[in-house]
Amino acid sequence: MSIKGLKGFKDILPAEVGIWQRIESSARALFHRYGFAEIRVPILEQTGLFLRSIGETTDIVEKEMYTFTDKNGDSVTLRPEGTAPVLRAFVEHNLHLLQPIQRLYTIGPMFRHERPQKGRLRQFHQMSVEVLGSEEPLVDAELMAMAWQLMQELGLTVSLEINSLGCPQCRPAYNQALRDFIDARSDKLCEDCQRRRQTNPLRVLDCKNAGCQEQYQGVPELPDFLCADCRTHFEAVQLLLGLLGVPFKLNAFMVRGLDYYTRTTFELITGDLGAQSAVGAGGRYDGLVAQLGGPKISGIGFAVGMERLTLLLEQSQGLQADSGTDIFIVALGEAARNRAIKLSQECRSAGRAVLMDPAGRSMKAQMKQADKFGARFTLILGEDELQRGVAILRDMASKEQLEMPLDDELASILANHVTAVINS
Ligand code: ATP
Ligand code: MG
Repeated sequence: MSIKGLKGFKDILPAEVGIWQRIESSARALFHRYGFAEIRVPILEQTGLFLRSIGETTDIVEKEMYTFTDKNGDSVTLRPEGTAPVLRAFVEHNLHLLQPIQRLYTIGPMFRHERPQKGRLRQFHQMSVEVLGSEEPLVDAELMAMAWQLMQELGLTVSLEINSLGCPQCRPAYNQALRDFIDARSDKLCEDCQRRRQTNPLRVLDCKNAGCQEQYQGVPELPDFLCADCRTHFEAVQLLLGLLGVPFKLNAFMVRGLDYYTRTTFELITGDLGAQSAVGAGGRYDGLVAQLGGPKISGIGFAVGMERLTLLLEQSQGLQADSGTDIFIVALGEAARNRAIKLSQECRSAGRAVLMDPAGRSMKAQMKQADKFGARFTLILGEDELQRGVAILRDMASKEQLEMPLDDELASILANHVTAVINS
């Protein structure tokens, strides 16, 4: 029996990779325009990092982490999200001493032991973006504008929903109001919600259970409980989003699955992915750097799920296979083949993608291969051509043929010709 990949772990096949690369290169270029630099952090961390940051009573920590004991007895965890590792690195390397505001992003795999379904995997990929060093509302607004613009540039329609979760000054009063509300109808709520009442009342708003959602009609709204500072901050963020030309909706019931969020939170929502409607999400985490042993520095970030983005792009634009081979060289006879091998290498040095049939079979078989590889041109070099000192270039789209002198200039002439045709 052959060995299969693990459940919830997916191969990204060559036909799909084009979309991934497009998303990544659009994102990198855009992030650069907003002043972000890339950071690459390990996928394995001490378990304590996530316990301390994400929060012990969140779904992620309670049931989704890939945690195991390393050979030396340490508890380690495959990262379920990117913010904690990036902040760990930020603190460890004193990055705040380099620049007053650090804008960082990282792209890579995350691991959560969830029930696999469309848009929900156990190994998935995120682009994770953080701004560290300022609590100014413009930072929030610019970050959301960047997330919004990324979707625009990819040609996706999403809506931006925002909320403020308040701060350690005003949240407790809201938590109390929520507990009172829950107590009044606790017999009608699911077990999870009853438990959340004790551990993390905000999370009840996020309950996926339809019966519970019915009960939460008329629940107190967080924005009504914000302290003066949080209110001013949230209003400024909205004003600035307007200045930046970013449309948004207020969603008083949006809470996030991680404990560290304060003040501004946001989600990018799509109607095109069924239950998995959040393409990206994030928020402010003003206490988190200090909580991880760093200086008292504010932060805000978001993460975009790459799988959900690729699904959306496949739905709207289809798979775009990587543009393949520029020139397939068809060579017949040993002398021609040797000349062709040399030529193939010269063409690659001149910047073109070139293939040959390694087995050197019949003309027909080689032409078939050229087709399979989607070659834009074939260059035919048989014994007859070799004797006449020419090679025949065939445009596989128009079927036009062109004789070219087989001399030292051929590789560079070919390269220029291909470039001109591709660009025309
Ligand atoms: P959800 O409510 O869908 O479970 P989440 O709140 O757990 O999302 P975050 O932790 O905020 O998600 O992660 C940000 C983004 O990462 C999500 O919006 C989503 O696009 C993506 N994401 C999260 N979990 C998964 C997963 N298991 N598989 C694929 N993508 C995921
Ligand atoms: Mg989740």
